[in-house]
Amino acid sequence: MTLTIDTDAWRAHQRAVVERTPGIIPVAKGNGYGFGLTRLAEEAQSLGVRTIAVGVPGEVAAVRDHFDGDIVVLQPWRPFDARAVELARDPRVIWTVSRLDDIEVLANLGGDVRPRVILEVLTSMRRHGLSSADLDAGEEASAMLDVQGWTIHLPLHSEATEAEARDLAARAVDAFRAPVWLSHVPVSTAEAISHELSAQGERLETRLRVGTELWLGDRSAYSTSATVLDLHEVSRGDRIGYHQHRAPGDGWVVIVAGGTANGVGMEAPTSGSTMRAKAISVATGAMEAAGRALSPYTLDGKKRTFLEPPHMQSSMIFMPKGSTPPQVGDRVPVEVRMTTALFDIVRERTDTGRVPA
Ligand SMILES: *Cc1c(COP(=O)(O)O)cnc(C)c1O
Repeated sequence: MTLTIDTDAWRAHQRAVVERTPGIIPVAKGNGYGFGLTRLAEEAQSLGVRTIAVGVPGEVAAVRDHFDGDIVVLQPWRPFDARAVELARDPRVIWTVSRLDDIEVLANLGGDVRPRVILEVLTSMRRHGLSSADLDAGEEASAMLDVQGWTIHLPLHSEATEAEARDLAARAVDAFRAPVWLSHVPVSTAEAISHELSAQGERLETRLRVGTELWLGDRSAYSTSATVLDLHEVSRGDRIGYHQHRAPGDGWVVIVAGGTANGVGMEAPTSGSTMRAKAISVATGAMEAAGRALSPYTLDGKKRTFLEPPHMQSSMIFMPKGSTPPQVGDRVPVEVRMTTALFDIVRERTDTGRVPA
């Protein structure tokens, strides 16, 4: 499976997002939004930002040699994570701290360097964070830890989350004056909060963490394809594949690159709330890929069906007689979720031709 990047367009989009988002913190976590953590760290470095965010302690190592600035870990620090403990006093790492107990443990680690932290405020997500009643701990924590700010992670943006962001930010800053780091709110909200909470000519800094919009916001800047690995003519009723299902008609079995290891044909949960979401999940092959499910591969202009569930690194696709099969070595379009995809090849769009034999 191949990811092709139009690097100039991709970077132009990144720069546009960075320019309209003062204090932006690029997020590089998980599969690196399909691009890989190393690549995103390098892009963040060229963007000239001072902070990058990773998801978990184990991801710090993947970015630290490719990015010079600070690395914030989004998942809250926990004492039972050996890597989190080991890196607790790393001067380049900023930890998210969400429980009073963890503040205390971090404060008592000893040594000269005070751990750098942001303190998380519990929101209506009810995931992690100090409750409103515990926000006063910010002041005490600052005596023992290097508190860089408050962090507020809201559910998907709505009028209600907008109001919640303002309310929680005001309470947190009232308890302890420090910058506010936000996620999933528009720049205008961050600026409004900064304006509201600025006092006596001293501007309150707000910072926004952005992943999807930054890396995946320009859909035309990248494309995904799969190499045709093999092709066999079949007759209706011929047995095919691990499961020896019968060919549904005369035509071809096309073996294409990409399987479960690449994130193809994985069942992806949707919010389930809209028909549109369901339709997308079908179109991307995210539905249960057994039997004759529609695959995410486009061959001869149409999405084609799987002959059996995808294998680890390849999939068997059926093309009926009357369609024009590809040639071995061709690249065909494949639709994947960028946050679950793993590519074998990442190339620049200026590259041409087929994969060398
Ligand atoms: C993952 C994450 C983000 C980035 O989310 P996107 O929707 O990809 O922009 C921001 N903030 C926090 C706390 C996160 O965990």
